[in-house]
Amino acid sequence: MLEKLNGREIDSAEMTHALDLYRDILAIQASEKERILQKRPFAGLPDRRDGQSPLVGFQDIAMDLPEFADACFQIFGLLSPHLDLAGEEEESLREMIREKEALAALLQQWYETSSFPETVPENLRKVLSILLQAALRPYLAPFADAADRIVDQDSWRRTVCPVCGGRPDFAFLKGEYGSRWLSCSRCDFEWIFQRIQCPFCGSRDHEVLSYFTVSDERYRVYVCDSCKRYIKALDLSNMAEESLIPLEKILTAGLDILAREKGYQ
Ligand SMILES: [Zn+2]
Ligand SMILES: [Zn+2]
Repeated sequence: MLEKLNGREIDSAEMTHALDLYRDILAIQASEKERILQKRPFAGLPDRRDGQSPLVGFQDIAMDLPEFADACFQIFGLLSPHLDLAGEEEESLREMIREKEALAALLQQWYETSSFPETVPENLRKVLSILLQAALRPYLAPFADAADRIVDQDSWRRTVCPVCGGRPDFAFLKGEYGSRWLSCSRCDFEWIFQRIQCPFCGSRDHEVLSYFTVSDERYRVYVCDSCKRYIKALDLSNMAEESLIPLEKILTAGLDILAREKGYQ
């Protein structure tokens, strides 16, 4: 991933900063993954193959909470200069990570339902998600790699990741028939999804689903007027070069701004 990142030409100072930050986070994740695997070699996927629930439950991750919290602090240290948080907001976020018991409960709820306890202020939820996603990825990566051979892509087709149950944060079209795939916000696992269905609320109503394109026609943004969510997408069908979806999530920050300006989140 880092190699691919280094080879990419970047044309704006803002994007250069975003990618520098991303590179630093990747470095933390890489060393975390190594540390985790050294301590406890990956023992394979849990034996939960009913095809109905995500493969990896919260208990299966068996994380060391103090070390997880430590990684959260490291990542937060990188992110915080780029966030517009007031002093007390920053402190309350740090407090949530520091309080191990509360963190354990919060983490489990977020992992299982993609939502937070009411005690987490609304304005901190987005940042907290980003932080937890980034710190959790090294734990989930071996599961996602192993799941590639296990997941039955044709039968899953749900709005949540078949590996960890996370929500998608990017889509891409590929193959002869332009199948739409989703990528998980937590583990980057990719799964096939219906082309005309909202990947958040599940609506299939043509009246509320649409997409808009930008000058670079390989990219589009799918929007849903029922739940007001959006998802960025890349059309890989006519692309000669290989594309790295986790990297595209960062490179398309401009599309996030556009979607939010249009009232989607
Ligand atoms: Zn996932
Ligand atoms: Zn929707």
